[in-house]
Amino acid sequence: MNLTTRFTFDAAHRILGHQGKCAYLHGHTYHLEVTISAERLDPLGMVIDFDDLRALVRKAVLDRWDHATLLAEQDPLVPAIAGVQAEAPEKVVTLSQNPTAEILTRTAWEAIRQALPPGVRLLRVKIEETPACSSELTADSA
Ligand SMILES: [Zn+2]
Repeated sequence: MNLTTRFTFDAAHRILGHQGKCAYLHGHTYHLEVTISAERLDPLGMVIDFDDLRALVRKAVLDRWDHATLLAEQDPLVPAIAGVQAEAPEKVVTLSQNPTAEILTRTAWEAIRQALPPGVRLLRVKIEETPACSSELTADSA
């Protein structure tokens, strides 16, 4: 039995080294879709309570990324924004690589997988950067 839950979050990012417009700091309203599965249902007839699953994904991903600026750790903007942080609140999240949809998908996959209770398997994580563009990781491809 599979369960899917869907979230929306807003974040800014830029792609260091990109030759086009993605090199500039800009934002997206991302959609995150998570599918999990379990061999058997609990006594209430559930794979996992939707509230628990959503709380788990929120804590693993959304609390960090929503309304944040997502940057590669080597991005020269990181210290500049961190300098502003002392005077005005700014939420900066650094990743080991460029915050592309692909890297965000892989990072979310790892964070969610580690947070799932025993017996619940992560099947799919999909991140839509725009309605036309998305990245997806599945248990087969992870
Ligand atoms: Zn973008």
